Amino acid sequence: MAGMTIGSVPTSAALPAGVGYGPSTLVPPASGSFTATGSDLYTPYSSSQGPPPASMTHGLPPTSLSQGVPLAQPAFSGPPLSMQRLPSQGPGYAPPPSSTGIGPSNYPSTTGAPRPSTMQSPPLSGQALAGLPASQPNHLSSPPPQQAMSGPHPGPPMTGLQGPPPPSTHPSQPGYQIQQNGSFGQVRGPQPNYGGAYPGTSNCGSQPGPPPPPKRLDPDSIPSPQLNELPPQQKPRHRIDPDAIPSPIQVIEDDRNNRGSEPFVTGVRGQVPPLVTTNFLVKDQGNASPRYIRCTSYNIPCTSDMAKQSQVPLAAVIKPLATLPTEETPPYLVDHGESGPIRCNRCKAYMCPFMQFIEGGRRFQCCFCSCVTEVPPHYFQHLDHTGKRVDFYDRPELSLGSYEFLATVDYCKNNKFPDPPAFIFMIDVSYNAVKSGLVRLICEELKSLLDYLPRGGNLEESAIRVGFVTYNKVLHFYNVKSSLAQPQMMVVSDVADMFVPLLDGFLVNVNESRTVITSLLDQIPEMFADTRETETVFAPVIQAGLDALKAAECAGKLFIFHTSLPIAEAPGKLKNRDDKKLINTDKEKVLFQPQTNFYSNVAKDCVAQGCCVDLFLFPNQYLDVATLGVVTYQTGGSIYKYTYFQLETDQERFLNDLRRDVQKEVGFDAVMRVRTSTGIRATDFFGAFYMSNTTDVELAGLDCDKTITVEFKHDDKLSEDSGALLQCALLYTSSAGQRRLRIHNLSLNCCTQLADLYRNCETDTLINYLAKYAYRGVLNNPVKTVRDALINQCAQILACYRKNCASPSSAGQLILPECMKLLPVYLNCVLKSDVLQPGPEVSTDDRAYIRQLVTSMDVAETNVFFYPRLLPLTKVDVDNDALPAAIRNSEERLSKGDMYLLENGLNIFVWVGVNVQQGLIQNLFGVSSFSQISNTMSTLPILENPFSKKVRSIMDMLQAQRSRYMKLVIVKQEDKFEMLFKHFLVEDKSMSGGASYVDFLCHMHKEIRQLLS
Ligand SMILES: [Zn+2]
Repeated sequence: MAGMTIGSVPTSAALPAGVGYGPSTLVPPASGSFTATGSDLYTPYSSSQGPPPASMTHGLPPTSLSQGVPLAQPAFSGPPLSMQRLPSQGPGYAPPPSSTGIGPSNYPSTTGAPRPSTMQSPPLSGQALAGLPASQPNHLSSPPPQQAMSGPHPGPPMTGLQGPPPPSTHPSQPGYQIQQNGSFGQVRGPQPNYGGAYPGTSNCGSQPGPPPPPKRLDPDSIPSPQLNELPPQQKPRHRIDPDAIPSPIQVIEDDRNNRGSEPFVTGVRGQVPPLVTTNFLVKDQGNASPRYIRCTSYNIPCTSDMAKQSQVPLAAVIKPLATLPTEETPPYLVDHGESGPIRCNRCKAYMCPFMQFIEGGRRFQCCFCSCVTEVPPHYFQHLDHTGKRVDFYDRPELSLGSYEFLATVDYCKNNKFPDPPAFIFMIDVSYNAVKSGLVRLICEELKSLLDYLPRGGNLEESAIRVGFVTYNKVLHFYNVKSSLAQPQMMVVSDVADMFVPLLDGFLVNVNESRTVITSLLDQIPEMFADTRETETVFAPVIQAGLDALKAAECAGKLFIFHTSLPIAEAPGKLKNRDDKKLINTDKEKVLFQPQTNFYSNVAKDCVAQGCCVDLFLFPNQYLDVATLGVVTYQTGGSIYKYTYFQLETDQERFLNDLRRDVQKEVGFDAVMRVRTSTGIRATDFFGAFYMSNTTDVELAGLDCDKTITVEFKHDDKLSEDSGALLQCALLYTSSAGQRRLRIHNLSLNCCTQLADLYRNCETDTLINYLAKYAYRGVLNNPVKTVRDALINQCAQILACYRKNCASPSSAGQLILPECMKLLPVYLNCVLKSDVLQPGPEVSTDDRAYIRQLVTSMDVAETNVFFYPRLLPLTKVDVDNDALPAAIRNSEERLSKGDMYLLENGLNIFVWVGVNVQQGLIQNLFGVSSFSQISNTMSTLPILENPFSKKVRSIMDMLQAQRSRYMKLVIVKQEDKFEMLFKHFLVEDKSMSGGASYVDFLCHMHKEIRQLLS
């Protein structure tokens, strides 16, 4: 107990003026997106929602998917967005014009960065097609455009490299115009510094000989023709026309046009939903909305042999608490009273639309395990002549894909209903945190933000209690009991044996203790204003928060604001072990592993208590995200990082993240179980959670943004008749303290023909799975092994299609299944991402951070993260709400006379060409020439002209769609920041040695041909 002092906090002066925060009324109230789903008890909805079609038409051919059921609701006519998560922010959030410069960036300049010495080999290049064996006709070169549009494609839908993509319904894309006039970088020759797509390629000069018969292909072992040996004038002739290879933009546009106008009705088994980039409404008619579950394939091979042959992973990306657009109905809450939900006696599956009632309704047969269970008397209902219960449409659990049950006390810890959760704010008050203004910023923001804690539906005020801790080398707890005139501070300096020095008055109701809390938040910045303490502890902070929740016997969330590597003497003390020399060695995996098991053990204790940890990091140097992030990761928390945090440039982003993070709906103390029908079972799980056995996914917290990816394997044969079923059940405590079960059901088709599998795949979901699989793989394998395995698996997927589904006359051609024609381009983006192939400017912490973020991303997020959205700003129509058509992520699509916006979910870039009209520059930046544009601004100036308004409204809309506030970077053409921007032009060769799309496609083609020969 040494070192504990107890005393009253000295009163202090009011905050100095100038911390520019408006009154609390400027904070918009928790929006509709944040309200709890299903807050009202279930009311019969049949009159308003309308029954599903009389027959559920199982087995409807997928080709007729878009011919849906007529609209029962007005068509949604918003802009073509991928997901609508948040409303646009109100005027209170309008970013102030920036006056000061940006600090050191997350991304140090890479101007003139030298090529790593490991990448000296000649490129494995698509240009080098002359080196292909002579027996192969020039099938890779693009035919004249006249042929492009002629003739239907025979056989199954496919995309051959021989020809251009199938005729599009929208042949003229505005985006394509750009490269024809005034573009730069148009000649697609080899880049001088480009060392080769595949580092370490050693035998590039050799002629293709008899390939070794390895079971798994090693890209390095594939002979590749030497580009430099070609006479220069030959190069352009063998250049593949980038317009002849599958375009992500075209696929996205086509899906929007074909599927965006009608609601997606979920009554039919095995339907592939519209793409995540298409804006569509969902009508739940018995299967979970794709907003909750997306699958890699909606048609599962009947046998495991077939699945193995195809190598298509069978996985579902599940977002159990996803926020729905306001036009869609949140899941109904079903209350069965004291008896609780109806379940199968054997496998414990929950009542769902696929259970079969038999014997006049007295029993039901389980759709998962076939066991027959008595219907409890209170649940009995007669059947109609079709065998359907007559109350079918009155009960969500019989007619809908997603719903909630109110849990009984049997579903609660210690057979006791839970108390509402608590939020504990834990603020680093060491020198850097104080000096940067961060401490004052957080305290000011909390004063108003505490009014917007989640209310768990329609409660008058939030039931969540709050507590406050500050720390550096020691911890300070605060008593903010409502009866006190002033807050009291208690210091615990014995961090080796952490305990919470007060129980009464630590966790309080915000409204009751408002005066004391406000006083505390006013005083904290003053108290530590003159601190000299630079060292911090970390693990004791988590332990303190955990102990406080334990003492209060509730679940909750810790919001930790932390600045540095915890080097102070304490449990969980860390050392700086960053070593970029390990990159591209077998030891690289160490960089992703925690340096001690200590944090894993802390995380385990947190999970047991339902203590979720959110981490806001503000590092000025390495702070070991791989280790500090473990607790966040295993407790289902969120991590945010603001490298070189500067008030002027980063506060808007941080505050928006904080506001959203505090306000968003969270399920606490959660357990998720995925049940499947006989024949398949869930075998692997990816995401931020903890597992102590092979079936239960434990989540101290699960918020509306987090996804869990689940992989399935066969353990028996499946039948085409019965299909396959998934049921995801999430048991959680709502922010109001209510114990609930959320159930999502999904029925899939099963097939005996590989062509059916390939026709019903979803590449975006496949990429989500593959990225997570690879990002987990780097923990235990050399990165190169992981990359090779990815390439190999995708080559096998495509080779299997080529062998079994494509027409035999096309030997030697690269033929891609229609549903997977973007697999190569997206896979290449994953392969050259910062985690798998970092450039010299990417820090070890950034890689660990990205790795952790991607692991919890949904399909829409991975889609834009790996293939960013690029919009020509000069093409915006100021009189129209629509976004300009996106263009492909390649430098040759950019025009010097244009400005572009690029977003990937974490960053927004505005790229300005050197020849942009002066008027546009004036309108957007408020300066008179290109040279006067400051690339250090973090927000666009607020100017009163239509162009400025339109661009800022586009940015607001994009920000609102993403779960994190994106950092704005202004990039001038030929400026030093341009290297950062080019990193995101993912169809081009990357500075870190990543292949261009064209080169990678050629490489995949070689891999596939090797597999087929
Ligand atoms: Zn069962």
